[in-house]
Amino acid sequence: MKIVRIETWLKNDIPVCRVHADTGDFGTGQCSTYGGAVTVKVLHEMLAPIVFGEDPLGAEAICDRVMDRTMKFPGTFVCRALSGIDTALWDLKGRLWGRPVADLLGGRVRDPVPMYASSMRRDIAPDDEAERLRRLAREQGFRAVKVRIGTGPQARWGSDGDMWPGRTEALVQAVRAALGEEVRINVDANSSYTAHKAVRVGRMLERFGVFHFEEPCPYPDIESTRAVADALDVYVAGGEQDNSIPQFRRMAAMHAVDIVQPDILYIGGVCRALRAAGVAREFGLACTPHAANRAMVQLFTLHFAAAVPNCLYEQEWTIEPTDWSDGLLERPLEIEDGAVKVPDGPGWGIEVNEDWLQDAEGRVSELR
Ligand SMILES: [Mg+2]
Repeated sequence: MKIVRIETWLKNDIPVCRVHADTGDFGTGQCSTYGGAVTVKVLHEMLAPIVFGEDPLGAEAICDRVMDRTMKFPGTFVCRALSGIDTALWDLKGRLWGRPVADLLGGRVRDPVPMYASSMRRDIAPDDEAERLRRLAREQGFRAVKVRIGTGPQARWGSDGDMWPGRTEALVQAVRAALGEEVRINVDANSSYTAHKAVRVGRMLERFGVFHFEEPCPYPDIESTRAVADALDVYVAGGEQDNSIPQFRRMAAMHAVDIVQPDILYIGGVCRALRAAGVAREFGLACTPHAANRAMVQLFTLHFAAAVPNCLYEQEWTIEPTDWSDGLLERPLEIEDGAVKVPDGPGWGIEVNEDWLQDAEGRVSELR
């Protein structure tokens, strides 16, 4: 069995990827959203020639081969493109064996998978955020949430600012008051703080019983992040932007974070996300992958979190409607009592809509 054809479809910055074998078998996956046009170009022009002729059941060997052959071009676009191939190969294997991907990853240790309601907004007033999270917790059964603190990408990294004076503390206080003591509150600073400021903010978070404090400092500065983790009891989380396995190993070995957060589509796919989670597990750390939109990353992360032993806590579930991804999948995943069930079908278990593909910009590469 060998890989002979790769198709992509790009629409609304979502690059869907299908890998075909010479037997007629195929699987469907997705590269990372954002920068989709560049990602598709890298996939067809740099990666496709490396994977043609390879055994589609050897996803791990293929991922290593791609990373070896592109060693002079390390970085996000190779990984974003590789993630489309990797996730298509997992789907192909699942279809061939008639099993959900979660089962191929070693079996489901949790299903349904508990989720946290993840806000993506910094423009929202504390009371309004608290009210919408209370409503979602009541209506959909969430037992954990995440809110955005600091300035994130709205200001330069480590600027120590706030969207408006006092917002961060008022937000955490309002959300705790609205949700009560039983609901876990996570916060995400998106690289907002210097270590000194992050420790001060972290002490405030601890007063309100916050569970995880995500990306406190500019993410490549793992020494600052470690200083924050050393000084605080609240769990420090990070790793969503990282795609180097040695970087995950450094972060884990120096205990820069308590929870690692690979994004399956930024790191290069399921095989590489498994390695990041495995490194974390060696050091006794948990894994809570980043999954911040409703395109296919949500489905991939669901299978992953169902199977990976150290995905111990609630997983990310964006609460923001993303109309740009509507209609991609034949049916959306549904929250029930704060958790989501892994689809029973083979592979990823939910098909991409053919109508969606027909409307998208297609590109094909073939083995010659
Ligand atoms: Mg984050």
